[in-house]
Amino acid sequence: MKLLFFRKSWLTTASPIFCVRKLAFFLENDYHYHKVSIGECLLVKKTNDRFEVVIVGAGAAGIGCAVVLKDLGIENFVILERHQVGASFSRWPEEMKFITPSFPGHGFGLLDLNAIVLNTSPALSFRKEHLSGEEYAIYLETIAEYFQLPIKTETNVNTIAALPQGQGFVLETSQGELQSQFVIWAAGEYQYPNLNPFPGAELCIHNSQINSWRELEGEEFVVIGGYESGVDAASFLAALGKKVKLIDRNSSWLNLDPDPSVSLSPYTLKRLEVAYSMGRIELIGDQHIEAVKAEKKGYVVQSEYEQWFSPTPPILCTGFNSSLEQIAPLFDWSNGYAALTQEDESTLTPGLFVVGPSVRHGNIIFCFIYKFRQRFAVVGNAIAQRLGIDPSPLEIYREQGLFLDDLSCCNDDCVC
Ligand SMILES: Cc1cc2nc3c(=O)[nH]c(=O)nc-3n(C[C@H](O)[C@H](O)[C@H](O)COP(=O)(O)OP(=O)(O)OC[C@H]3O[C@@H](n4cnc5c(N)ncnc54)[C@H](O)[C@@H]3O)c2cc1C
Repeated sequence: MKLLFFRKSWLTTASPIFCVRKLAFFLENDYHYHKVSIGECLLVKKTNDRFEVVIVGAGAAGIGCAVVLKDLGIENFVILERHQVGASFSRWPEEMKFITPSFPGHGFGLLDLNAIVLNTSPALSFRKEHLSGEEYAIYLETIAEYFQLPIKTETNVNTIAALPQGQGFVLETSQGELQSQFVIWAAGEYQYPNLNPFPGAELCIHNSQINSWRELEGEEFVVIGGYESGVDAASFLAALGKKVKLIDRNSSWLNLDPDPSVSLSPYTLKRLEVAYSMGRIELIGDQHIEAVKAEKKGYVVQSEYEQWFSPTPPILCTGFNSSLEQIAPLFDWSNGYAALTQEDESTLTPGLFVVGPSVRHGNIIFCFIYKFRQRFAVVGNAIAQRLGIDPSPLEIYREQGLFLDDLSCCNDDCVC
C-alpha cells in the first residue's frame, strides 16, 4: 500500500502530465487507485485476496464470531491468526484453570458458561468443571474443524488502513496484503501484557511469561497485583510450599462488588482461603507499588511509605493491555477506552467491529466469555444487514440468550 502525494505546483503548470505518468506507472503495475483528497491518493496493490469479512484472531471471540458468520451463510471470509487456534489459552501457565465453571446445561436452554457456540459444552467434552488453557484450546480447535472455518495461521496482522469513502480495509500481514469490506478485531489481551506499570518492572516476571509455577526457583516470593491472576499465582506457589507476600493496591480480597469483572470470583476466594489457612500467604492491601529496585541479594518492592524485600524476581500480576492499542488511531479513546456504537463498531471507522474482552459500553465490561459471547450475533446481524443477507438464522441465538442487543438489562445487582 502506498500513499501518493501530488504537490499543488505539479497540478498547475505543465506538471499534471508528470502526475498522470506517475499514476499510470502504478496502475500498470498492479495497483488500485483510491482518491483520498485533492492532490492525495492511496495506491493499493491489486490482489485476489479480497474478502467480505476478515476476523483478526482465532481465540474464543474470533472462533465464536466466525460460527455466527457461517450460520448467516457468509462464505467469503477468513480468520487471520498469528499463531494457532486458541494460542492464548495454550500459553497459559500449565497449572492455570478457568475460574468460570463449566456445566452442561444447554439441554435446558442454559449454555455452559464457557461455551462459545450453541449446543456445545467444554464440561461435556472434558468431563471437567474447571478446564486448563490447553484443554480449552482443544475445544476451540474442535469447533474450528467441525465448522470447517477458514483460518490462516501463522499470519500476524501488522496494520489496518481504512480506505476512503467506506470502500473497506487493507490489512498488512506477515504473509502479505489483503483487503476486506469489514474487519472484526478479535485479538484479545493475553498476548499484550502490561510489562511497564512502574519503574523497575523489567526486573519482574509477568505471570503470562510463566510456563509452569514449578519452574520457579526459590522459597519466598512477592506477587504484585491481587486480582484473579495474582491470587492464582499466590495460590499455586503456596501449594508448592513457598511463602508468598501478595500486595494489592485495593485489597481486592475484601471487595464485595457483585460484578466478577471487578471483584474476585467465588472459586478464587476459596483457593485464597485455603492457601491463607496454611499460613503461607501474607495479604498486604491498600499499597500502590511505585518501583522495584535490584539489591545485592534480591529485590526491593516499594510503595510510597513502605518496602518489602524479595529474594526472587517479583511476579507482576498487574494485568494486560488491549490489543486495540495496535490499531489505536482507528478509535476514539476520549473516555479512556475504545468508543463503540451499539453494534460494537468503531465510532470513528465504520466497518471495523470489535469482539471479545475489549468491548466496553460505559460501566458494562465484557471481559468474561459468558458476557462477550452474547455480542457475536449483534456484530453478525449488523454485517448481514449491510450485505443484504437475511439475518433470520440469528433468531435461535436470541432464543438461547446469545443475542444481547439491549444493554439496559445488564445489571450485576444481587438480591441475596
Ligand atoms: C489470565 C486470564 C484468565 C482468564 N480466565 C478467564 C476465565 O476463567 N473465564 C472467562 O470467561 N474469561 C477469562 N479470562 C478472560 C479472557 O478475556 C478470555 O478468556 C479470552 O482469552 C478472551 O478471548 P479472545 O478470543 O478475545 O482473546 P484470545 O484468547 O487472546 O485470542 C486472541 C487471538 O488473537 C491472536 N492475535 C493477537 N494479535 C494478533 C494479530 N496482531 N494478528 C493476528 N492474530 C493475533 C492471538 O494469537 C490469539 O489466538 C481470562 C483472562 C486472563 C488474562
